[in-house]
Amino acid sequence: MKNAQQHILIAELALSSDAHILRGLLEAQNITVFMFDEGFSSLTPADALAVGGIKIHVPFEQKDKANKIVNAFYENLKKESIPKCSNCDSINLKYDIREHIKHIFMNLLTFFTGTNASHGTRSFKKCLDCGYEN
Ligand SMILES: [Zn+2]
Repeated sequence: MKNAQQHILIAELALSSDAHILRGLLEAQNITVFMFDEGFSSLTPADALAVGGIKIHVPFEQKDKANKIVNAFYENLKKESIPKCSNCDSINLKYDIREHIKHIFMNLLTFFTGTNASHGTRSFKKCLDCGYEN
């Protein structure tokens, strides 16, 4: 039986920045937050998941209120990770290998000719709604 003094694991996150955003959201609703393994995960983020990431605990009696916030937070993370067109916000994108090869060719050409024109970072996804090359 859990008592009021115990706390419960409510989220595990790989990124320290995500963990602090969630912590802020929980504390804004007067939920007490305990974070564990943040030091190790911050030093070597690539290995953070090997130890289960940054663990966020809340007091057992606040778990229901905290769960709603955590679920909304995870939903937002999912939405933000879906690639969208920069021009029209459509999610109807298709990877364009021809644009990617053209980009590599142009980078090699500018490298060997010494013009050093940077073409920036792109995802090479063509929007099927508006035709924009993202
Ligand atoms: Zn578009």
